[in-house]
Amino acid sequence: MYWADAVVENLNGKQLISTGISPSGPIHVGNMREILTGDILYKACLDKKLDSRFIYLCDDMDPLRKVYPFLGSEYAKYVGVPLSYIPSPDGNGKYSDYFLRPFVNTLGKININVEVISTTGLYHNGVLSNAINIAISKRKEIAEIMHDVAGYDLDGDWYPYEPRCSKCNKITHSKVIKYEEPYVYYKCDNCGNEGRADIRTDDGKMPWRVEWPAKWFSLGVTVEPFGKDHAAAGSSYDTGKAIAEKIYNIEPPAPLMYERIMLKGLGVMHSSTGISISAEEVTKFAPPEILRFLIAKNDPSRHIDFDPGLGLLHLIDDYEKIENAYFGLDKPNNDNYKRIYEMSRIKTLNAPEKINFRHIVTLVQIYHDRGSLLGALKRSGYDKNEIDDYLDNEINIAEYWLEKYAPDDIKFSLTDKKILLNDNEKSILTEFLGKIESTNWDSGDIHNTVYNIIGEKKISPKDGFSVFYKILIDKTKGPRLGYFLSSMDKNYVINRIKNLI
Ligand SMILES: [Zn+2]
Repeated sequence: MYWADAVVENLNGKQLISTGISPSGPIHVGNMREILTGDILYKACLDKKLDSRFIYLCDDMDPLRKVYPFLGSEYAKYVGVPLSYIPSPDGNGKYSDYFLRPFVNTLGKININVEVISTTGLYHNGVLSNAINIAISKRKEIAEIMHDVAGYDLDGDWYPYEPRCSKCNKITHSKVIKYEEPYVYYKCDNCGNEGRADIRTDDGKMPWRVEWPAKWFSLGVTVEPFGKDHAAAGSSYDTGKAIAEKIYNIEPPAPLMYERIMLKGLGVMHSSTGISISAEEVTKFAPPEILRFLIAKNDPSRHIDFDPGLGLLHLIDDYEKIENAYFGLDKPNNDNYKRIYEMSRIKTLNAPEKINFRHIVTLVQIYHDRGSLLGALKRSGYDKNEIDDYLDNEINIAEYWLEKYAPDDIKFSLTDKKILLNDNEKSILTEFLGKIESTNWDSGDIHNTVYNIIGEKKISPKDGFSVFYKILIDKTKGPRLGYFLSSMDKNYVINRIKNLI
């Protein structure tokens, strides 16, 4: 059974699928696994006709942990301050929004409809106040759970609440003095301020290990995917589960642990180390369904090596194979191909209507304007009078990928250089010209014609084909020959050969 369907199989009634992130820096493609796993579970719930909601919690009450390399030294004074209380690096609004905004824009492109909810807003509107009150009232029991499950030694005056200092805004330096519902009295050892925090607003927050189950309780979360680092023994899921059951008297959400996405050759992505590609960047060089496909096809327990170079083309080939299988045009290579395709596709296209991405990658290197590119497409059967938005996006993506990520042996440009040919090469081309009249200008016929010519001459395909690459792109190899030549205008190829023999 498909992994998402297996998670959803035993669920009944209303579902709330929750995902989230701490927007402390650029949101990278590794983080996409969280939201896409959530989205796929959400779609699986909807397919099972369960009344479902899908939310994305932006953990903007989390404090800034340190001055990251991408921040100026002026951010030192904000360490310990909630992200929603720190100005944006571009001076426009909040720090948390600055990093969240491009991510949210990206979600639309990959067909994710999620309610984005600010955790600061949850505190501010009192949504979590009941959970805070319960946690503080049962703080001794929570301390015991933290000790028994995770080995924490919390002293007797520990509170599951971190007041935000009303003077310096830090939530990391306040010592709780006492609690009188709804106020938490504190002293800040950063600035010496003494004050009281109202639990009905964003005057403070719960520590993560308590906040997580408090959100399950307050919002009614039933399904939650989370990364491996939350899942080890004694991790925040274990303490969260115990707090949910013993303190809040609820069932914890159905968990789904997912492995990480590694960037091929670079390892685990971290915004703070610069080993990352932002989620926004990926939508510029990979077709949107491919990003979904990457997550949809891999079981969450498997880590993913994401290769934005040649690996991306292989991934796209794999997607196109599944798409063709879905439409009965190819044999499936995966038991779950139908579900994988349904979870990946952005738009329902008929497979024959779709233009192979490798073909687009070739065409954009031959034709540098949309008009001539459209001409070439029409010659190969594209029946529209203009390039539609879907294809236009694919073309932009192919161009961007070629510029920034494609390996050199995929890249080429047409040459008009004078190329010197030996007699053998001239004879291949001369014979090709002679036969071209009676050859359909389509990839199969061209391939067969060239293949027959070099076969008679006892020349290896590699050497024989390379003549054509040499005169057209000044390289020894290139895209599959028949299809490559057929992508070009027949007269262009004929004239080029005539000029050189
Ligand atoms: Zn203070």
